[in-house]
Amino acid sequence: MTHKLLLLAGDGIGPEAMAEVKKLIAVMNEMGHAFETEDALVGGCAYDAHGAAIAEVDVAKAMAADAVLFGAVGGPKWDGVPYDVRPEAGLLRLRKDMDLFANLRPAICYPALASSSSLKQEVIEGLDILILRELTGGVYFGEPKTITDLGNGQKRAVDTQVYDTYEIERISGVAFELARTRKNHVTSMEKRNVMKSGVLWNEVVTATHKAKYSDVKLDHMLADAGGMQLVRWPKQFDVIVCDNLFGDMLSDVAAMLTGSLGMLPSASLGAPDEKTGKRKALYEPVHGSAPDIAGKGIANPIAMIASFAMCLRYSFDMVAEADRLEAAIASVLADGLRTKDILSDGMREVGTAEMGDAIIAKFREAA
Ligand code: NAD
Repeated sequence: MTHKLLLLAGDGIGPEAMAEVKKLIAVMNEMGHAFETEDALVGGCAYDAHGAAIAEVDVAKAMAADAVLFGAVGGPKWDGVPYDVRPEAGLLRLRKDMDLFANLRPAICYPALASSSSLKQEVIEGLDILILRELTGGVYFGEPKTITDLGNGQKRAVDTQVYDTYEIERISGVAFELARTRKNHVTSMEKRNVMKSGVLWNEVVTATHKAKYSDVKLDHMLADAGGMQLVRWPKQFDVIVCDNLFGDMLSDVAAMLTGSLGMLPSASLGAPDEKTGKRKALYEPVHGSAPDIAGKGIANPIAMIASFAMCLRYSFDMVAEADRLEAAIASVLADGLRTKDILSDGMREVGTAEMGDAIIAKFREAA
């Protein structure tokens, strides 16, 4: 079966990181897999070409693809462009049109990097947790969203935190299903002590668990306590599920447990298609376009390669290949190869392409 991938490399280091995934895809095709790829523009480069952060025809290609691989967008060159066509608008458009409501951010500590975390080695070594963030609802989108001039020298800003039952049901369903493929444990985090949306969140997660997923262990934790526990003893968690706002913050905290931005992959998934059961999906590194290092050949491609590993796992059910790719990354790090962002004493500094080549060689060797 052919797997159709749309590659949106974007701006800055996006194309450099994507180039390593393209090499890997070519090698996998030589090994007998059947990936069909198409490139398109997104972000600042799309604005330069079409005056929009993504062309309509490319949105349609993303909707039709089995999965989208996304690099990064933005940079100082486009700081002055109108708000609705700024580079990030391309990503937001894709998230909205593809209805990507579930954002998966793993925080894995590779053994070779455990000593470079800001936490003690024993706290972080062997960490493998997954933060699941609701991505299309909550306070970032709720209406009203206003700043009103009160006329007395004061202004009032309002954001609205709003969740409907179905939104909580579907994100918690994803959490329980993911947990079944891992350590079978979900921790739901909200603020039911002070927020009505937290009360409903707690109720719906509990009811969804009882109705369909009672084989999975479920814990509830207040989001502030959860933040504290994440830095105290993160290994107590397996899958953490939370709303858009808490998920944004807690996933960044979890991310930094493991070191550089250049190491962190993510996946955003939509609802399963009624006919095929396939979910729309977009895979991207957590980092941005890193204009400070773009074009120098020194960007760390691991976040992009690990995003492709997530694509193999979640879009194509290629679990063995995903495991092998993640093991190849761990093995290259254990050999002491480091890009500049993760360099430490006694390690060998390599550029983007050399890191990519080393990972691909290990992946091929282990086949
Ligand atoms: P950034 O993630 O681009 O960079 C932050 C720092 O981390 C920089 O010093 C950078 O050199 C370093 N870094 C990031 N990725 C790296 C990698 N793979 N290898 C080595 N070092 C890496 O964030 P920023 O500087 O705040 O933003 C730069 C631009 O990216 C802005 O235009 C921002 O809007 C955009 N951005 C885009 C996305 C996205 O496309 N999803 C996400 C965040 C920021």
